[in-house]
Amino acid sequence: MDFKADIGVFGGSGFYSFLENIEEVEIDTPYGKPSDKIALATYDGKKIAFLPRHGKNHHLPPHMIPYRANISAMKQLGVKKIIAPTASGSLQPEIKPGDFVVSSQFVDRTWGRKDTFFDGPETRHISAAHPYCPNLRRLAIEAGKSLGITIHEEGTVVVIQGPRFSTVSESRWFSKMGWEVINMTQYPECYLAREMGICYANISLITDFDAGLEGRDDIPPVTEGEVLKVFSENNDKVKKMIFEIIKKIELCENDCTCCGT
Ligand SMILES: [Zn+2]
Repeated sequence: MDFKADIGVFGGSGFYSFLENIEEVEIDTPYGKPSDKIALATYDGKKIAFLPRHGKNHHLPPHMIPYRANISAMKQLGVKKIIAPTASGSLQPEIKPGDFVVSSQFVDRTWGRKDTFFDGPETRHISAAHPYCPNLRRLAIEAGKSLGITIHEEGTVVVIQGPRFSTVSESRWFSKMGWEVINMTQYPECYLAREMGICYANISLITDFDAGLEGRDDIPPVTEGEVLKVFSENNDKVKKMIFEIIKKIELCENDCTCCGT
């Protein structure tokens, strides 16, 4: 492998390009090909690898994304930290479209996804108690605040299988549990990064209020067009925030122990 990168960025819905003066590389992994070619470029003296998780043409729905290949490709490149924005729904009225949530926990409601690198003979049971890197989360929060973005510093993301959105009853259940955010891709992406010993932080960009909110007839259920519209409107904001995080990352500081390595 001639190509190397320090920091990985996954693009989500509406976020298919990121860097300038890129070099695209095609990478193969023991888990198949990643979602697309990986774009490599240098920013602030750091080597960045960018991969849109749905593919550049959004041809991969959430349940068909090759999560293991995507993480494995980043690992092959030498990536130590991954910043992963996602289009997400809000489950709570105080978290509004246009706000960002730096997720701190997930609840997995997916099924049938290849969600481990340890299928045997090597058997490992990696802790997911605190699945997000606290250091990368802190940098994300600082970066967002410095740009004047409305940031929620904690949040549990419910990961549903998709591609359908939630029913009203499902959404009511998640809201009543006190969970904040809902999307379709945080699991197993976040956990697989942990298995590979890569620091990982999610920025949930709120695009909608899931299936509406209880007792709030003025808040309509989510539609696909609405999600893409808001995500596109906030694209510049997300990119600025990621560049700011990259500037704050000190690569010489190799003291992060979030992955137990
Ligand atoms: Zn970490």
